[in-house]
Amino acid sequence: MKKKEIDPETANEIKKELAEKKAAKSKEEKPKKKAAKSKEEKPKKKTKAEIAQAKKDAKAAKEKEEAEAKAKKEAAERTPEDDLEEQFSDEQIRNFQIEKMDMDKLTNKVCEIIADFEEKGMLQSDLWKKLKLNSRDGSRLALRLERRGLISREKILQKGRWTYKLIIEQAPIKLESLVNSPCLTCPVEQKCDFENAYPEPSPLHCQLIEDWVTVEFSKKKK
Ligand code: SF4
Repeated sequence: MKKKEIDPETANEIKKELAEKKAAKSKEEKPKKKAAKSKEEKPKKKTKAEIAQAKKDAKAAKEKEEAEAKAKKEAAERTPEDDLEEQFSDEQIRNFQIEKMDMDKLTNKVCEIIADFEEKGMLQSDLWKKLKLNSRDGSRLALRLERRGLISREKILQKGRWTYKLIIEQAPIKLESLVNSPCLTCPVEQKCDFENAYPEPSPLHCQLIEDWVTVEFSKKKK
């Protein structure tokens, strides 16, 4: 069979057309490839400095959050005594005086009342009512006694408000507790001394004192 010949002009046209189609096709494919490439692109790796800064920022944010929560809690738990403590110096609190009052007598009375509640303590507002003191004087008195180591204060939530419970630390010696003391009628009381060595009389090795304390202590327990 004889090969069919194409004239050069037609051949050129065919070539040109094929080239144009090829160019158009590659144009269509290119953006697709680009898009595919960008989809596959890995996230940029952070530098050491960026990681350190991110850590620093996270730490600062956490600290800020904690400080805000703490301030909020402190504000909610704030009592008038906290204001007084800021307002007055330690010396002013320790030497606080209520006008026309014998502070030593008042201190003894307060300690006796609080001591009756033992380690359970009593609400300071109940004490102020009992002594007919206003809350400002009462609060300053409580601070004075605490600074002198006679009582301790415990912050508690009472009917939705923060206040203090007062607990005795150093109970005053009651005169009636000494009434049955053997020392009052002891024939060797004049010679009795803590420094004495046995068999000289001393409270440190006195059977009478030991018996008396045991009896008094068991009475108190009942
Ligand atoms: S401690 Fe004993 S010895 Fe001394 S005065 Fe008292 S009872 Fe007497």
